[in-house]
Amino acid sequence: MTHPERVINFTIPVRMDDGTMKYFQGFRVQHSSVRGPYKGGIRYAPVVDEGEVKALAFWMTMKCAVADIPLGGAKGGIKVDPKKLSERELERLTRGFARAVYKFIGAWQDVPAPDINTNGKIMAWLLDEYETIMGYKSPATITGKPIPLGGSLGREAATGEGGAMVLEQLVKDMKMDPKKTTVAVQGFGNVGYWFARAAHARGFKIVAISDSKSGVRDNNGKGKEKGMDPAHVMLEKQEKGMISGCYCIGTVCDCEHYKKVTPDQVLMTDADVIVPAAVENVITAKNAKKIKAKIVLELANGPTTPEADVIFAKRGIPVIPDILANMGGVTVSYFEWVQNLQGVSWSEADVMARLNEKMLASYKVVRDIAHERKITHRTAAYLLALARIEAAMRAKGVIR
Ligand code: NAD
Repeated sequence: MTHPERVINFTIPVRMDDGTMKYFQGFRVQHSSVRGPYKGGIRYAPVVDEGEVKALAFWMTMKCAVADIPLGGAKGGIKVDPKKLSERELERLTRGFARAVYKFIGAWQDVPAPDINTNGKIMAWLLDEYETIMGYKSPATITGKPIPLGGSLGREAATGEGGAMVLEQLVKDMKMDPKKTTVAVQGFGNVGYWFARAAHARGFKIVAISDSKSGVRDNNGKGKEKGMDPAHVMLEKQEKGMISGCYCIGTVCDCEHYKKVTPDQVLMTDADVIVPAAVENVITAKNAKKIKAKIVLELANGPTTPEADVIFAKRGIPVIPDILANMGGVTVSYFEWVQNLQGVSWSEADVMARLNEKMLASYKVVRDIAHERKITHRTAAYLLALARIEAAMRAKGVIR
């Protein structure tokens, strides 16, 4: 488990719109196929490197095992700032990625999906290039596709919805009332937005939201929060290109009760639950001591450093680890793969019901292990994942 099975390292040449050539570094790390074909997203980011992709691929192996789906772990990335590329350049880069990895991916080999700064449109280019090279259709090779290309209903919202399903059960276990439970969300992309919507729909009070630039928070003290509907915050972000720090419903903005907040301050908000849903390593030994929340729900991958994790354990604050809290995304990706392989399409209600069943099953096993062994949810999730991987290795005779 400490070494990935394969690391693919490549350069993608891209003809830019102005006629010049640029070269982008790309990676695909295939960590483990013990339990099934490799599975994992592809991120486009200026700071991607091999070490990060290796860590993310390892987490995917663990996550698929916690979710108990028959897939292994992988991750991919391109070192690029996609905001600096035109749409055509982004398409050429993505098609270049497909040409670099086509020999190593496939429905029964390695199944990529979106991650940070990648989306359904990018998955469609990737699949189109792959199918063109291979000369046959293979929708199950890529998940997170647009619906007309065989994408699954519910995939876009899946990670956030899954997180809200777990939170609802955890809060019930802690005998807290969702309607009186306040939630602060850092990151307002695919995961943060859909989580905030799903939590709001379940009655939780969303009191702070931020993206990478700025955010908004409910300014009143404990018990006086009004909460926010994330759909309104998203509308404002889409219209103005940023979250202004006021809470606007249409053209009517409240800048008295609601105040501007920085991404770091969101984690320090006086909320019952904090939800890092953006990037890695945002909760460190430095800020973990000051965090006031009763629950940390990790929707980003790796938001808590190991030092911060120890602090939370000592303070008795439950941290629902990424490999459990955000497994809804890969679970519905797995549903998409299953539908593609069978040539069928499930209704959104069906997808959500199956997701709920999976999320609660994994959460309850992890919760019970943590309780029985008096260990953190993270250690319990890893114990569960490793036990399932070990069982597959024993069945193959890899270990005796
Ligand atoms: P995204 O690109 O859609 O959104 C990322 C969001 O985080 C954006 O709102 C961005 O402005 C914000 N952000 C970036 N840097 C930030 C910073 N330093 N502080 C505060 N906010 C910042 O990406 P996503 O798909 O929502 O992924 C978010 C996290 O969830 C990542 O860690 C990803 O690996 C993880 N994840 C995603 C999925 C999925 O299905 N998309 C599944 C599992 C895990």
